Amino acid sequence: MNMEGEASAVGWARWGTTRNAKALPDSASTLLAQVLELTPPPPAVPLAEVAVPDCELDARVLDALRRALGAEHVVTAHDARARHASGMSTPDLLRHRRGQVRVAPQAVLRPADHAEVVSILDLCSRYRVAVVPFGGGTSVVGGLTPSAARHVAVDLSRLNDVVAIDPLSRTATLQAGMRAPRAAELLAEHGFTLGHVPQSYEYATIGGFAATRSSGQASAGYGRFDDMVMALTVATPQGTVRTGRAPASAAGPDLRQIFLGSEGALGVITDVTVRIRPLPAQSHYEGWRFESFADGLHAVRRLAQDGPRPTVLRLSDEVETMIGATGSGRADGGCQLIAGYEGADVLATVDAAADVLAPHGGVPLGDEPGQQWARHRFDAPYLRDALLDAGAFAETLETAAYWSALPDVHHRVRQAILEALPDGALVLAHVSHVYETGASLYFTVICSPGANPVDRWRKAKAAASDAIAAAGATISHHHGVGADHRAWYAAEIGDVAVDLLRAVKQQLDPAGILNPGILVP
Ligand SMILES: Cc1cc2nc3c(=O)[nH]c(=O)nc-3n(C[C@H](O)[C@H](O)[C@H](O)COP(=O)(O)OP(=O)(O)OC[C@H]3O[C@@H](n4cnc5c(N)ncnc54)[C@H](O)[C@@H]3O)c2cc1C
Repeated sequence: MNMEGEASAVGWARWGTTRNAKALPDSASTLLAQVLELTPPPPAVPLAEVAVPDCELDARVLDALRRALGAEHVVTAHDARARHASGMSTPDLLRHRRGQVRVAPQAVLRPADHAEVVSILDLCSRYRVAVVPFGGGTSVVGGLTPSAARHVAVDLSRLNDVVAIDPLSRTATLQAGMRAPRAAELLAEHGFTLGHVPQSYEYATIGGFAATRSSGQASAGYGRFDDMVMALTVATPQGTVRTGRAPASAAGPDLRQIFLGSEGALGVITDVTVRIRPLPAQSHYEGWRFESFADGLHAVRRLAQDGPRPTVLRLSDEVETMIGATGSGRADGGCQLIAGYEGADVLATVDAAADVLAPHGGVPLGDEPGQQWARHRFDAPYLRDALLDAGAFAETLETAAYWSALPDVHHRVRQAILEALPDGALVLAHVSHVYETGASLYFTVICSPGANPVDRWRKAKAAASDAIAAAGATISHHHGVGADHRAWYAAEIGDVAVDLLRAVKQQLDPAGILNPGILVP
């Protein structure tokens, strides 16, 4: 199959394509024009006009790769290489719009199976060519842009099958390059769901979820992706590692944890065995209003700690609630909570959760806000495209902290961003994932781009990351480390742990070919 034909579902320099683009609501455009100074940007440079230097791999490397994979699966076309040069952070999209790519891979390799991935690692170790595993290409932390110019992208999209389903144990083994919608479709044929629904659902892959320890919109109920992983098969330059042979084990340290979150720096995950659940017979989404973010935090903490635990819990702060309500006629202020319930019979849980939320100041808003959220749950990246088209800058960042620290983290990060963007910015936040001991905070920033939006954001993001570190929170709850968070990650784990990580990498990847510059400080 033609490489570009297959990738064409993903837009160039945007999340969606022009066909499935979503317009900003008029009310949002009006609000933006009042708050920010926006000038529509020049049209994006088409992919065909983007300059990518020619492939410089020498013939013997290319020949060896072609022999291993078949010539049609070693792609050196400029457009394919441009598409595999980075992920989908806003700075990535802005560079693409200007016709710039950072460091394009010399070639895009498309292995058919685990054995071909092993061959690629073997050849690339021998010829000292760096390797970037490429899943859905949705990284927002620079996870696909290594420090080595001489690298190849290993596109896993042909590893796209179900290896096995065990309905009795409720597990499924899925190949790593399978995108989330296909996994959902195939599992549904057997009456099961994974329950992993990140905002990047449409394009992200099973291997990418494991490699970045992803979290989804329904992870309050189904758990994070790393909670779901029972076993992994990983190709490393030293050979194959298979981890996880029973539902639980006391046989030494859990080696799955070395590869969960390893972001392609320690090996290429080729299949993942996940825990699956029966498709829910019922789902119910509803809205609640709290007078303040502090009140809402108190109520969701009670649910997270003492139950009942909804499947989806999303508490917006005052600013996010205000922006969300723009144009809806709802102007009652406060903070909105979306609670979603999925399962065999959810009504008893809905009632029991109401018995916790109401005494903590929750005012029920009925089903409408919940259904509205469910209808638009994948819209945000399309709206980012529309904001960029309108000349605004929009980007997100996230963290997690213990309940006791959460209000302070929220305050400090907001302040840091506002101070770094003194000519005005909208900073919205919500709690996106809850645990017994704490929660994540997800920030959206909308501002004017200024003369150099990428540089401006780099400074604002650094200020936010410093604030996260100073407040004792983690540099990432679910986006991962990539190249962008590496310095903060090193500070977070400390020198001894950095050395430990380097030693593991040295053991598995002695030639240092795997994702250099990503994750490992
Ligand atoms: C609009 C948008 C919304 C997002 N929303 C969410 C969200 O709700 N929750 C969330 O968790 N994340 C979210 N993300 C971040 C991103 O989607 C996740 O990190 C996702 O898990 C990446 O999956 P992928 O298949 O696209 O991986 P890629 O982006 O292709 O790769 C990510 C990293 O993992 C490595 N990698 C990929 N596949 C493998 C493999 N098989 N073996 C080894 N290494 C591999 C890559 O080298 C890279 O370092 C969002 C991103 C965008 C652009």
